[in-house]
Amino acid sequence: MNRRGALVTGLTAGAGLLLTGTGRAAEPPGTEPPAPGPTRAPGPTAVPGPTGLPGPAGAGPLAEGVRAPFVFRGFEWGARPPSSPPKIWDRRPIRILVHHTAGANGGDFSVPAAHRMARGIQSYHMDRQGWLDSGQHFTISRGGHVMEGRLWSLRELNEGRRVVEGAHSPGQNVIAIGIENEGTYIDAEPTPMLWDSLRASCAYICAQYGIRPTELYGHRDYRNTICPGDRLYGMLPRLRDEVAGLLGVRLSAREGRKAGWPLLREGDAGPLVEAAQYLLRDAGTLRGRPDGRFDDRTVTAVRDFQAVHRADDVNGLLGGESWPELARTVTAGSEGDAARAVALLAEHRKVESVPDVVDHPVWQRLLGTGGSPVPSGTDPAGVADR
Ligand SMILES: [Zn+2]
Repeated sequence: MNRRGALVTGLTAGAGLLLTGTGRAAEPPGTEPPAPGPTRAPGPTAVPGPTGLPGPAGAGPLAEGVRAPFVFRGFEWGARPPSSPPKIWDRRPIRILVHHTAGANGGDFSVPAAHRMARGIQSYHMDRQGWLDSGQHFTISRGGHVMEGRLWSLRELNEGRRVVEGAHSPGQNVIAIGIENEGTYIDAEPTPMLWDSLRASCAYICAQYGIRPTELYGHRDYRNTICPGDRLYGMLPRLRDEVAGLLGVRLSAREGRKAGWPLLREGDAGPLVEAAQYLLRDAGTLRGRPDGRFDDRTVTAVRDFQAVHRADDVNGLLGGESWPELARTVTAGSEGDAARAVALLAEHRKVESVPDVVDHPVWQRLLGTGGSPVPSGTDPAGVADR
């Protein structure tokens, strides 16, 4: 119990340090609906290209030469009015989170099918989740049609200064733009049309808000979730590279790849699981010997850990929400299970010397396959997550 208490204390300090790294003080949210000023249309064309790609030739250059994708606004896809006005924050988002809808990988690539899908998500979010509107800022169909999610998201993006508060991932609803991609991408790849629109949308969002193309992440980087699916998640380095290309920037291999937090789940096996088991035993929720098998016992230990830490996702999936709490700081010379986890991973990665202080970036390097660390940083206080 003491041990668990100590872990929580250490974490709070760590999280505070990392938060300052976001560099921006929270400003009070504007709660008033913005004046109904003119919405700057994204580019001179208001006609979608044949595949939902950026409009036909003639779409003018926008910020830094990036063309805006054609985006259907809510009134065009038949959105219901929100149950209350979305909040607008007077700050820019710092990253993009890629999601999949976890729905069917259907073969109807038409505009009506895209609009139906957007209406279905909105109804699910409003009627089942109780949110005020669609949770995500933007939605992309398998046919590559891009749609505004939450009301005003497109107008604020076109202005490039403020952001609409979303509800796509607790802790990332203001600092991150959420894009829902229609389908389930655990084993399947997105369609080429979806992919083209995703990278065009990301490039435009990056250009408008001044987000680096390295700052594209998957939902699982911050939450305990399968989303956006193993396959689409594995394509994120390519997405960063291609978005950088659209922006006229070149990324080094290290910039484009992220070490990250591995999503571990039931059925997984190997040294990463074994390291997690040592950390779970260190935190007091796993009994018995770590054996590198993510079995029932480990699922229960992860759930218990998530419950103790009041995770939003108490589901036995070990992802980006629980890893930062589990991977506590270990200093040189310390003993015990957390130090054993470090030693095991260092051996697995053939790391010759481990830094004296194993903090989150070092943990991510030990757990990941190389690349730069996934940054911390969460929403300012006062985000409703609905
Ligand atoms: Zn998601």
